[in-house]
Amino acid sequence: MQKNFLQLWFQSVAILQKNQTQITIIMNQAGKTKSFWDNHISQENTAADNQKFDVIIIGAGITGITLANELQQNGKKCLIIEKEHPGFGTTGRTTAHINNFFDSSYDEVISNFGEKNAQVLGNAAKETVSYIKRNVQKYGIACEFAEVDFYLFSSEENQNKKLEDILEAHQKLGIETKPTQNIPFSIPFEKAIEISGQAQFHPLKYLKGILKKYEEKGGKILNQTQVTECKAENEVVTVKTSEGKTFEATSVVWATHHATGDSRFNLLVAPYRSYAMSVKLSGAPSKLAQTADLEEPYHYLRYHKSGDNYYLIAGGFDHKTGEEPDTEKRFAELEKYVKDRIKFEHIENKWSAQYYVPADGLPYIGKMPGEENIYLCTGFNGNGMTFGTMASLIIPDLINGNETDLAKMLSPSRIKPVASAKQVIKENVDTVSNLIKDRFNPDEISDLEQIEKEEGKLAEVDGDACAVFRDKSGQLHFMDAKCTHMGCHVQWNPSEKSWDCPCHGSRFDALGKVLIGPALTDLEKINAEKETR
Ligand SMILES: Cc1cc2nc3c(=O)[nH]c(=O)nc-3n(C[C@H](O)[C@H](O)[C@H](O)COP(=O)(O)OP(=O)(O)OC[C@H]3O[C@@H](n4cnc5c(N)ncnc54)[C@H](O)[C@@H]3O)c2cc1C
Repeated sequence: MQKNFLQLWFQSVAILQKNQTQITIIMNQAGKTKSFWDNHISQENTAADNQKFDVIIIGAGITGITLANELQQNGKKCLIIEKEHPGFGTTGRTTAHINNFFDSSYDEVISNFGEKNAQVLGNAAKETVSYIKRNVQKYGIACEFAEVDFYLFSSEENQNKKLEDILEAHQKLGIETKPTQNIPFSIPFEKAIEISGQAQFHPLKYLKGILKKYEEKGGKILNQTQVTECKAENEVVTVKTSEGKTFEATSVVWATHHATGDSRFNLLVAPYRSYAMSVKLSGAPSKLAQTADLEEPYHYLRYHKSGDNYYLIAGGFDHKTGEEPDTEKRFAELEKYVKDRIKFEHIENKWSAQYYVPADGLPYIGKMPGEENIYLCTGFNGNGMTFGTMASLIIPDLINGNETDLAKMLSPSRIKPVASAKQVIKENVDTVSNLIKDRFNPDEISDLEQIEKEEGKLAEVDGDACAVFRDKSGQLHFMDAKCTHMGCHVQWNPSEKSWDCPCHGSRFDALGKVLIGPALTDLEKINAEKETR
């Protein structure tokens, strides 16, 4: 099974489209909706030409910025290269729970990786939460940081066993957890546990604070610069950008959330979208706290305090990227879920964003297999505040030649056939079947006039598989519907006004510009003279 899957992968690489022109991309956000953290971090570029760096970090989300600062504070000369601006990616659209437990629960980690490894992970997770707290205190970052308890509950009797397994695993590993009869949310439940030692913050205020310290220490950053190539030779890693510039470093870290280009890690993680909303509460809840149920996909909620105001942030209704044509329905379901349970004044924001589910349940953080001095951080599932930060507890050691037990456990080179088999097969059969079967299902349009303003549709135009978008002025734009990563057909996302690829999660704006990789080039424009209205 594993072999067939790799063969298919090699075939799919062969159809990678090449020779596309590089275009500089200037966008404000990875989608049309606005998150609760609307705090654009505008950033001046710092001069970086003609310099050699110790480490180049690609991507300015929580992973890249935390790591760059950690390295810079410890004497390394660093450069961050970011395609758009800091916080443009999922970090600007997260719900920002900082947890020491994960979507892959500790009972599963024990069964898949063994108790000793689970203990290593549990200790590292606890240390990561403390590390964020220390940064907030040390640098005096006003980022609405709060230490809170998490309430995990079953909503049906048949989920009780899972909750008991989680409780037992937490207690075995020393994750402070106990059964409770009360949760500080007006949600009915069967059984619940209280997990202490959690935290939360405003992710972009935190990022801004860390970035400031990084730059004060001499760290450099280049925004609106897309990395298109990265090659290691003779102990030097050369990075090429969309502007045709070249930079050199001893080490390079991909902190881009997904693996970029034709990496095999695009097949070891599956892209999913989650929906979130924030509502203003009329007053303070009994205590700031977080909660989630055990549904599949689960609903997650937390309170947030900003100034004198209290909010509830909720999320859920996840699906695999590109597989939900009616994304507005997911928002409606989330809104109903919240309205049925929580009293609030008004809705502040609704937004969606992307995350990556790893094949065996744990992220890949460490040295890129087969490469010298190139590192990778991907597959964080819904836990990237913790795992993204945890990269700073792993990669600096690796760069200094020290492979800790944690680094071994999360190594991208790990082979976990037992743990991963079921999940790898499921996720990747989905992906590969998307890739090899022609997913071009033109929308039922007899006439392009049927496309509304600000709407996109797939259509067959003069025999071409087209992604067609009508802009505000009525002008139609025609693009090749094939994703420039591996040639799957993109699907229209009506909420984010984007074209999303169901295979590896590449996303393009309405006019075809890359929002999120692994694709590196825009959808190909097709010249078609069509009437406007
Ligand atoms: C709705 C939602 C809610 C979530 N809630 C939580 C939560 O409560 N707690 C939690 O722990 N996790 C949560 N997650 C997951 C978490 O938000 C992410 O894992 C985390 O933000 C990823 O951070 P990152 O820095 O690795 O990636 P990103 O924030 O995505 O940053 C990557 C950056 O790399 C840049 N980039 C990409 N390609 C290139 C290139 N070729 N050249 C240069 N730059 C490039 C991008 O522009 C981007 O700015 C949530 C995810 C979603 C979708």
